Amino acid sequence: MDVEEFRVRGKEMVDYICTYMTTLSKRRVTPSVEPGYLRTELPTEAPFLPENFSDVMKDVENKIMPGVTHWQHPRFHAYFPSGNGYPSILGDMLSAGIGCIGFSWAASPACTELEIIMLDWMGKAIGLPPAFLQLEEGSKGGGVIQGSASECVLVCMLAARAAGIKRLKHQFPTVDEGLLLSKLIAYCSKEAHSCVEKAAMISFVKMRILQPDEHGSLRGDTLREAMEEDEEAGLVPFFVAATLGTTGTCAFDNLPEIGPVVRKFPSVWLHVDAAYAGSSFICPEHKYHLAGIEYADSFNTNSNKMMLTNFDCSLMWVTNRYLLTSALVVDPLYLQHCYDGTAIDYRHWGIPLSRRFRSLKLWFMLRSYGISGLQKYIRRHCELAKYFEQLVKKDKRFEVCNQVKLGLVCFRLVGSREENEQQVDELNKKLLTNINASGKLHMVPSSFRDRYVIRFCVVHQHATREDIEYAWDTITDFAAELYEGPDK
Ligand code: PLP
Repeated sequence: MDVEEFRVRGKEMVDYICTYMTTLSKRRVTPSVEPGYLRTELPTEAPFLPENFSDVMKDVENKIMPGVTHWQHPRFHAYFPSGNGYPSILGDMLSAGIGCIGFSWAASPACTELEIIMLDWMGKAIGLPPAFLQLEEGSKGGGVIQGSASECVLVCMLAARAAGIKRLKHQFPTVDEGLLLSKLIAYCSKEAHSCVEKAAMISFVKMRILQPDEHGSLRGDTLREAMEEDEEAGLVPFFVAATLGTTGTCAFDNLPEIGPVVRKFPSVWLHVDAAYAGSSFICPEHKYHLAGIEYADSFNTNSNKMMLTNFDCSLMWVTNRYLLTSALVVDPLYLQHCYDGTAIDYRHWGIPLSRRFRSLKLWFMLRSYGISGLQKYIRRHCELAKYFEQLVKKDKRFEVCNQVKLGLVCFRLVGSREENEQQVDELNKKLLTNINASGKLHMVPSSFRDRYVIRFCVVHQHATREDIEYAWDTITDFAAELYEGPDK
């Protein structure tokens, strides 16, 4: 493809995306395909001779689209939102066009500098303490864009692990580092995202998973008792992950209690994972969730979840960037430059060397919507969740299982007195399976206090009360069918 064809195809692609977006509601929200469906549709080897791009696009429509789950569909209520604001799509397009790899300041200065500024803009908008901002006078902190919340948690754990081992090595200089590693222990709640457990697996450290309270919130006393018990047993607490807005039910760990507990233990790293909820803190009415953030060493949120920015754009801040980089620096000659040590080199802040120009899309979004435009989306999203909650509460056959604070409502059929808990779980499983199989609506389950619950998330950028009513009517129709049979 030469530049002139790209000019034409690029415009056609934008048209294709616009038509896709405006006709999306006519498609099934979930595909009805079986694993391996595409193998029968595509050749077994790559074409030796070039093909016409029109033929490629025909196959996109005929072969790829039938296997796509449409996350931007108004009937998609699964997981969490996956932003795709148009300015962010344009930002990614420009990033791909520029095609620079911004691993160091010198590798593409604007790439690093815009990222620093965007993270400071976002940190201020969210309400993070100044210690997290990079351009504050005398600050050791700063922010970075990672590919995912999982990476944010992992790199913070790696930094905490390196600091923990260094401290122990200082105390016990003759003890082997492998033995010191075996003493380190991390903590999170049972409701924390599985990426925390995975980070501990990768980091080869022990992890203690704690029981939250009846609302899914990890409490200070539970953490303190576990840490004290482990310390007495000769282990060394080094990392605590608290979650603001859990994946299962959007519960909030009690940071004002957890923070002071963590600070009683020497040099324990407190990470706050707000992958979904964090963006909502740009609204003054949600900022109270950040109480206790002054105790944290690091914080992450995915602007690609509730801030309309497309994947990937995970924002992470630390209060001490030197602790982070000292765990991750390797410095071969071919990557060095004359501003080493004075300019920021983001390759030392994460796992991959190569990095895309992701701050462009964040900049485009912030300028095109303004904070006020993004607040408007978040408020609408939360209002609609409250509306759905009211609908559920009005129907005696159902119950709401979580405290609805943002855009996620967890609910379930209560079942009859004759049914035991397992039977009610099965009933809810059947309800969700039937709804998803119909392609009319898409939701996913979660387990809360060991019970099966259905998660309903407000996702669509332009969701309306009619969309919520459609969803509720669909759910109640399937519930009626479950009780009465399809023919009644
Ligand atoms: N943390 C929380 C609270 C989440 O809800 C999620 C995903 O939904 C993650 C971490 C993992 O996010 P990612 O897919 O960006 O790794």
